[in-house]
Amino acid sequence: MPKVLTASNNAHKQQELREIFALCDAPVELVAPRDIGLDLQPAETADTYAGNAQLKARAFAQALAERGGGLWVMADDSGLEVDALAGRPGIHSSRYHQQAPDGDGCRALLAELAGVPDDRRAARFRAVIVLIAPDGNEYVFEGLCEGRIGHEKRGANGFGFDPVFVTEDGRTMAELPAAAKHCISHRGMAARRAAEFLRELTSPESCRFRGCDNGM
Ligand code: IMP
Repeated sequence: MPKVLTASNNAHKQQELREIFALCDAPVELVAPRDIGLDLQPAETADTYAGNAQLKARAFAQALAERGGGLWVMADDSGLEVDALAGRPGIHSSRYHQQAPDGDGCRALLAELAGVPDDRRAARFRAVIVLIAPDGNEYVFEGLCEGRIGHEKRGANGFGFDPVFVTEDGRTMAELPAAAKHCISHRGMAARRAAEFLRELTSPESCRFRGCDNGM
């Protein structure tokens, strides 16, 4: 079973990736940086999710290579895009919380959207996962979740913007049990795609020519 290092120090994201991989029975063992004594804070200086995920994944892959390598590396970069804010905060979502008064990005977002009617409160979460194989090859997976920004914070689950992100069924992400969030979330979609890819690659019965009946 391949070992995959999650190139993130965000405990919420690590926990979610662990849950999603368990839900889809992914044949991998996830390893957190602290499990192997790695402490890296790569700067996220790219201007795309994929670019930032790649920076994080490459920094951890480089550190691993110096210790002999052998593991896969997986990095996730994600954010919230609000149509009424021309796609902000987007790749700067994490910073948006840090710069908000009291660190409460949800409250700051609600204040920015005060007076904006429901039909202009559309938003989406986006996640990009970059996988780096032990041989250095890189693979990219994306996930998207459409919704809208509510008028108040609701729910206690999840993290980040979950309490103000209203899903299709009217509940906020923070009102959903974790497994229900993973079924519809951007990270759930991207991670399922990554897990499927790893399963195809690593299961002995998988074969690119599955379905051929000529015995080859
Ligand atoms: P990253 O760690 O640079 O990818 O930052 C992601 C930021 O986007 C987080 O700090 C949150 O503000 C926001 N975000 C990403 N995914 C989620 C989610 O699943 N729920 C709530 N907020 C999220």
